[in-house]
Amino acid sequence: MEKHLLSKSTFIRGNQCLKSLYLNKKRSFLRDRIPKERLIVFQRGHQVGELAQDLFPGGINMSPGHPAAYKKAIINTGEKIKEGFPVIYEAAFQHDQVMIYLDILVHTGTGWHAYEVKSSGGISETYMMDAALQYHVIKGTGLDITGISLVHIDKGYVLEDEIDPKGLFNIIDVTEEALSRQDYVKDQIEREKEALTLEHSPKIDVGPQCREPYDCDFLGHCWKNVPKPAKKDPSLQIDKDAFNNASINLAGNPAFIKLLPMRPAIPMYRGTHPYQQMAYGYALKDGKGFRSSLYPHTTNPMDALLSDLKTKLEGITSLVCFGQGYLIRNLLPEVDVIDLKDMILPESEYYSEMKDKFDLEKLRVIFSLQPDDKLPDYLSDAVAEHYYLKEYPSEGIKDKLEAFETSWAGTIEALHSYMKTL
Ligand code: SF4
Repeated sequence: MEKHLLSKSTFIRGNQCLKSLYLNKKRSFLRDRIPKERLIVFQRGHQVGELAQDLFPGGINMSPGHPAAYKKAIINTGEKIKEGFPVIYEAAFQHDQVMIYLDILVHTGTGWHAYEVKSSGGISETYMMDAALQYHVIKGTGLDITGISLVHIDKGYVLEDEIDPKGLFNIIDVTEEALSRQDYVKDQIEREKEALTLEHSPKIDVGPQCREPYDCDFLGHCWKNVPKPAKKDPSLQIDKDAFNNASINLAGNPAFIKLLPMRPAIPMYRGTHPYQQMAYGYALKDGKGFRSSLYPHTTNPMDALLSDLKTKLEGITSLVCFGQGYLIRNLLPEVDVIDLKDMILPESEYYSEMKDKFDLEKLRVIFSLQPDDKLPDYLSDAVAEHYYLKEYPSEGIKDKLEAFETSWAGTIEALHSYMKTL
């Protein structure tokens, strides 16, 4: 068996940019450090994939346990198909020098149906292309594949006593879409294989493809000589009128609040749904100083958080937050809330660099904020959530999470003070 040149992930990479494909294969040392957030998304995908296997129970798993053992996985898959196993997980195939693992392969009685599982709440063009590639490879091996479906999480599902996979997942038959992309897939495979034979990386300028559909991990290399736009005056990035109008209506001195949010892909508590926005801790800064709390995830932390927060907020009628206005207004409808993120103009550096993500460090740099504390270890909500679910309530993790939320509350106060000076 000849060694494959492409896999599902490298095909998708090459479809985004041939230079990225080339660099990944031939100059991988130029790659940026993989952000922790991406590893977390990968782990979540793995967990969701395992759960989706319960849609077709009793299957046999072909995952080789190690990438180098791919040949064994391909041979074993072929054998199990011949032996008549009706459900195969992580089925391995190779054709056209492309190797793929399919999440679930099911014999329908008249042929084979392929299922590709996604941990997101919907489907995208990239997923369609992924399905089209899988279809091309499986069909190319000579297997009688009659259709392919994408399986994704149904955000409307509500957890009752225990997870019901049939309710948690939506199955969308994308056979027609996969068939309509077959010519493109074949041509793209040729383009990618050709790019990999080049002596030097393809001459491709930086452009929108660097961030769509995914942030490329050669941004550091390709963009290093691209002149950075001049730093914008921070005051020109804020909608002063919106800030003043919102501030006029605030009664008394506001407190500054940061909630630690969580959005589990697989619902954890009765009555909640996938990706439901919840909170498991808060930091509050008011005239009495900083106060913060965290709650265990053994039961829904929102219950304890709400009851504690309501006590702490006695006498406080207005709150200032960043990017959490929607969540806080839902939780505490009786309190006036200003969301400072709403005051940042869409054309600001913050949005051009962060899109819709929140980043404590960027916020401090762009607006030249200097709260009293140093930046904590965690700089993103997703990473904090990951460690909370994995390690809480160990002492080390509590300290880190409290440092994170308190830093945010201090930064929100500093940003508010800055906006007031404009
Ligand atoms: S940074 Fe942009 S140009 Fe460079 S490899 Fe990635 S996508 Fe291609």
